[in-house]
Amino acid sequence: MAESEERYMKRNETALKEHHQFQDFLYWNAVAAVPIVTACIALFRISIVCFFVYILICVAALLMLYKFFCTHCPHYIHGEISTKCMFFWGVPKMFPPRPGPLNFLEKSLSIVAPAVVVLFPLYWLIKTPGLLVIFVLSTTVLFATVRRYECHRCVYFECPSNCAQTNE
Ligand code: SF4
Repeated sequence: MAESEERYMKRNETALKEHHQFQDFLYWNAVAAVPIVTACIALFRISIVCFFVYILICVAALLMLYKFFCTHCPHYIHGEISTKCMFFWGVPKMFPPRPGPLNFLEKSLSIVAPAVVVLFPLYWLIKTPGLLVIFVLSTTVLFATVRRYECHRCVYFECPSNCAQTNE
């Protein structure tokens, strides 16, 4: 590969991503659905009550993240009346946008909410080792690929995971 072509590809890969496309939304939701659906299947097989509790936990975590984490994000703040990003598409902006850094509580919630979604089903997944393997692998793929392909070109500089500033 010619050096200039290589440089162009590298620049393209690390360029800040001002807007997400609908195909980004489809892709990331499909990736995120694998561990969630896997956990739901394990829970449903063992306890329908726990299955519904888990659904409620997922909905609550999503709402908390949307309110306390996303309202600081440029994809939420700018643009139309609805959010269009890699995880939400056409979702109304129910909460007032809050540009600027996250406070301690918001940072903590943005870590605790996904942690509860990941940790809660483990007790039941351990009883179904096949599903546990799929859950662990797909959760790893989700976090690793977000980190690998999004964090270094994300315009949400207030996000604790953002590493775009350190790019040369
Ligand atoms: S890109 Fe991430 S932080 Fe920004 S609005 Fe979408 S889900 Fe929220």
